[in-house]
Parts: sequence; structure tokens; C-alpha cells
Amino acid sequence: MGRNTHRIEDYEQFIGAEAVDRILKKARNLQDYHVSHVNATYYGGGVAEILSSLTLLMNSLGIKTEWRVIQGSSDFFGATKKMHNALQGQQMPFSDIRTDVYEDVIYENAIRNHFDHDFVIVHDPQPLPLVTHYKKRSPWVWRCHIDLSHPHSELWDYLTPFVEQYDAAILSFKEYTQRIKTPQIYFMPAINPFTYKNRFMTEEEMDERLAFHGIPTDLPLVVQVARFDPWKDPVGVIEAYKMARQEVDCTLVLLGNFAADDPEGVEVFESLLEKRDDRIFILPNGEDTALVNSLQRRAAVVLQKSTREGFGLTVTEAMWKESAVIGGNVGGIRYQIDDGDNGYLVTSIEEASRRIVQLVKDEPLRTEMGRKARETVREKFLLSRLLEQYLDLIDSFETIFRMRYFPGF
Ligand code: UDP
Repeated sequence: MGRNTHRIEDYEQFIGAEAVDRILKKARNLQDYHVSHVNATYYGGGVAEILSSLTLLMNSLGIKTEWRVIQGSSDFFGATKKMHNALQGQQMPFSDIRTDVYEDVIYENAIRNHFDHDFVIVHDPQPLPLVTHYKKRSPWVWRCHIDLSHPHSELWDYLTPFVEQYDAAILSFKEYTQRIKTPQIYFMPAINPFTYKNRFMTEEEMDERLAFHGIPTDLPLVVQVARFDPWKDPVGVIEAYKMARQEVDCTLVLLGNFAADDPEGVEVFESLLEKRDDRIFILPNGEDTALVNSLQRRAAVVLQKSTREGFGLTVTEAMWKESAVIGGNVGGIRYQIDDGDNGYLVTSIEEASRRIVQLVKDEPLRTEMGRKARETVREKFLLSRLLEQYLDLIDSFETIFRMRYFPGF
């Protein structure tokens, strides 16, 4: 394995030897198992972030785990981004969504991809119809990372027959449960603490990265790291910051990147540029993971002011770095932040602004919240926990299949 590849043993310092042994034992039962993860992009967004670490960790445990990415035209990603928006609750005529392009492109991907795996995990709506094109020889599960609290009903009705061909659907929380025949289970996302994005950095390393991108550190930093996407409410962040700046001195940095499967990003980024000033930085350099790390770590306040959020890995990442986080009171952010304890939840620009002022002024409060935030992540949101859930899931299907085909054993 490469020198940067982490192993489950590395987690002992956070989860204890007993948990590591338990996971190793579970993995031994699945030696040489052949697993495939399928999604729509290698970079940008939380799913790619999880898969890049999870697939390596599973391989390090002897489970042969592949990561396949579907190919798609810009028409296709235009259609699937609309789907994403509608599933998160945006109203639109169903006929606006090019389902013909969607189904054709997935059919083409099915011709190119061959699945003779023991277990297939398909992530999010983009590759969802793949399952219809194969004679299933093993369990297929659909993992949906989207905030499904208010899905567009016509679109959901259209997708349901695809979902129902899977053996299970994994959602992030119970509140995303849908009325479908498929069994639904719940896994919350998690972070890898050993990546360049999440590992410890020295003050000098952070200074170097921030200086490289021209970010001043003379005033407290207020930061949001997120794809340029209206659901992340970048305009609301800028307004909250401007209100806060009337009471406290601070610098705002909005850092974003563009995912291959999100064609709206560039437009959103460009629409924000006119809002820059000498204290408002809007940077598209979000692929620089050391910069993401430096900003999340050095910030006096990290914002994730989303209006919908499947989970919000950026919240987890900042909490792990002991930063005080102000999150929108929506979706997965609510499962991470316990309001007033390890961060703040807000529902309006005014509230976000008040919390910025309070946190910038009160360093002991930030330190205390940050300490609790890291502990929350250690307990609940490290990749070792998510890995174990996948191992249990694969093993439970293995048991069902064994009972079905080899009842004497
Ligand atoms: N990300 C990044 N650079 C950016 C913006 C986001 O590396 O400029 C990463 C971020 O660190 C996180 C992921 O992309 O790991 C975003 O996941 P999240 O669940 O917060 O949101 P999503 O983009 O999946 O809606």
C-alpha cells in the first residue's frame, strides 16, 4: 500500500483497540469479497470525498473494492442536477427534467460496465437506473446522500420503480424515509481524519497556504467552504457577514470548487464576484485540500449556512478541527450540531450575523465549543464507524444468500 494509505489500525488512538479488533474480525469474514461502488464524479462534493477514502480502507482490509464513475454528457448532468434540486424540494415542472437523456446515458454506461461483483453499491440518483440493465447475481443497494425531507413528488414517483429494484436503500437519517417497498436503512456519512484535508497542520503550514492565496490573517477569519451552489446559500453568508462587520472586524472567505456533475457551479461563482471587496474573498481554489484544511482550522468562525443539506461533511471537517461552526438548521447539520453546545444552528441571516458577532468576540466560548465539536466527531463521524456499517450490511446479505442457497450450512 502507498505511504499515504491509512489503515484501520491507525484509528486505535480515536476508537480504542477493542473496536479495531472487532472491525478486523468482521473484515476477515469478507476476505476477497469483490465490491463495487458506483457514483457520478471522482472529485467535488461529499460522495467523492467519502469514496476516495472508503474504497482504499476496504481494500486495505482485503475486500476487493472498486470505484466506478459513470460517464455523462453535459445534457445528462444538466438533467441530473435538476433532479438533485427537485429532490431537495425545488418546485419545477417535471417535464423540465430530460428523463430521456437520463435513461439513454445510463443505458450506455450499462453497456460499458460489467458487474460480476459480490456486492454493488450505487450512489445517488445519477447512476440509479443502472440496476435495470443487469441480470442481478448479487445484492445491489442504493445509497442516497441527498436531503430527502421534501422530495418533488412527481419526480419521486418516477424514480421509485428504479429504487424498488434494489435490495436495500441507504439514507442518512430516518426523517428521509420514503414510502417504497425496498427496505430502508440509515448510515450517516463520516470523515477520514488522516487526509491532507483533515490531518493536523502547524501554524507555519497554515500561514504559508493562506499567504499563497493572498488571504490576510490580521483579522479573525469567517469562512464557508462549499461547492458554489444556491443550496449552500453563499449570498446569505455574505449578507450575514456584512451585518456582523458593523459590530466586529473580521475577514470573510468563501472557498468553493466545482464538481464534474454540477454544471451550475460556474454561474453561481460568477454571480458572486461583484460582491467582493477588500475584506470579502471569493475563491474558486477549493481543490487545494491544504487550503481547505488551513481555512477550516484557522477560522474564528466556520459557516455552513445551507438551506438544504443531505449531511454536510464540511461541518464535520470543521468540527474535527475544533472550530466553532454556525450551521443552517436543516438536514444533516442538525445531527451534528447540538445548538449552543458544540456549535450553533441558525434559521435566518440575522441570527447567523448575531452568532458571528458573538463568536468573534468570545474566544473562550469558541475554544469550548470547538473542543466539544471534535469530541462529537470522534464519537460519531469517523470513517471507521461507516466502514463497520458497510461490513455489517454486506455480511447480513451474505447470511441471507447463504441461507437461501445453502440451507444445510
Ligand atoms: N470541498 C472541497 N473544496 C471546496 C468545497 C468543498 O474540498 O471548495 C469538499 C469538502 O471539504 C467536503 C465535500 O467537498 O469534503 C463537500 O461535502 P458536503 O457533504 O459538505 O457537501 P456536498 O458538496 O456533497 O453537497
